Amino acid sequence: MEARDYIQLEEQFGAHNYKPLDVVLSRGQGVWVWDVSGTRYLDCLSAYSAVNQGHCHPRILEALIDQARRLTLTSRAFRNDQLGLFYQELCELTRSHSVLPMNSGAEAVETVIKTVRKWAYQVKGVPEDQAEIIVCADNFHGRTITIVGFSTDEGSRAGFGPFTPGFRIIPFGDAGALEAAITPHTAGFLVEPIQGEAGVILPPDGFLKQAREICTRNRVVLILDEIQTGLGRTGKLLAEEHEGIEADLSLIGKALSGGFYPVSAVLSNTEVMSVLHPGEHGSTFGGNPLACAVARMALRVLREEGMIENAARMGEYFLAGLRAIPSPRIREVRGRGLMIGLELWPDAGGARPYCLQLKEKGMLCKDTHSHTIRIAPPLVITRETVDWALEQITAVLGAGE
Ligand SMILES: *Cc1c(COP(=O)(O)O)cnc(C)c1O
Repeated sequence: MEARDYIQLEEQFGAHNYKPLDVVLSRGQGVWVWDVSGTRYLDCLSAYSAVNQGHCHPRILEALIDQARRLTLTSRAFRNDQLGLFYQELCELTRSHSVLPMNSGAEAVETVIKTVRKWAYQVKGVPEDQAEIIVCADNFHGRTITIVGFSTDEGSRAGFGPFTPGFRIIPFGDAGALEAAITPHTAGFLVEPIQGEAGVILPPDGFLKQAREICTRNRVVLILDEIQTGLGRTGKLLAEEHEGIEADLSLIGKALSGGFYPVSAVLSNTEVMSVLHPGEHGSTFGGNPLACAVARMALRVLREEGMIENAARMGEYFLAGLRAIPSPRIREVRGRGLMIGLELWPDAGGARPYCLQLKEKGMLCKDTHSHTIRIAPPLVITRETVDWALEQITAVLGAGE
């Protein structure tokens, strides 16, 4: 079979809820992926930062196979010999108080919404069914009805109502608006440290610190969605470290398994999570031994193989290289660590045609919000590969014509 045959099958039998680049991948190793005809590409998306550790990392693969041979699923009706160790290692690494494991990122978001609502009623004293959660415009937190209900992206929302009430939307990065939106019924503030899907949007310096202070003063739970920014992507284990703060609840997912398996978690730095009692929340696959074994190794290689430090170093190098490209098409280069956005001028004709040209040069990049190209390779990228990538980007976007 050739690429077009696989594409045709997807088109014929699949739901059309994605519009992928027409590259059919069949193999991956580190920062590289290969298509069915053997052409090699640099992966500059890393499955939306789920493969921070690089494709098919051999030690994570080994952990997956070992565990799959022994025990894969017990459900939480029984205990297993991986869950406690996963909790302990994750808490030690992130200096958290407790962990609630789920599978997808969206489930972790749903979990914190339930948790902070219950905390608001039982601990803060908000009248029943009146709890409010503040979120930001242009957020991306997943795809469930409740989550898209507080999205500001029409494409994500339109046609899916009625939505869950209880959310207020403020502009991203606006501490004054946060302060003004808080009422006695406010339970939590949910925010991404850097908005990834919105096009790698960084808040003003000091925003997270201000948000931390405002939340503490008003007894509002600060929830950071680090599903994309977490686990080394921005050059720190968690992006909150850039501003020296600690969220009350942090969400991680994506790279928690190094791309092998859906694993997400809610990390609690406070007693907020203790409002949940047996029978009130759960998931058949959440905390299963296979997920735990994979996640334990995914966290271990991140730390032991210096990937977070490499993300910081290579991110700085990549950003500097991109900023040095003379181009009439590039409006702004922004990012932190290896979470980089390349925004084009509106008259450049959109980001997608350039993503198609980069694909011809051997780089797989994703256009985001029509004018931004996202660059987020696995954290194991080397200086030589960054240099090579800069050459390709210069050839496509640099001066000329
Ligand atoms: C990807 C993502 C999610 C949703 O995760 P899924 O595993 O796709 O449900 C939530 N928040 C952020 C910031 C994300 O990037």
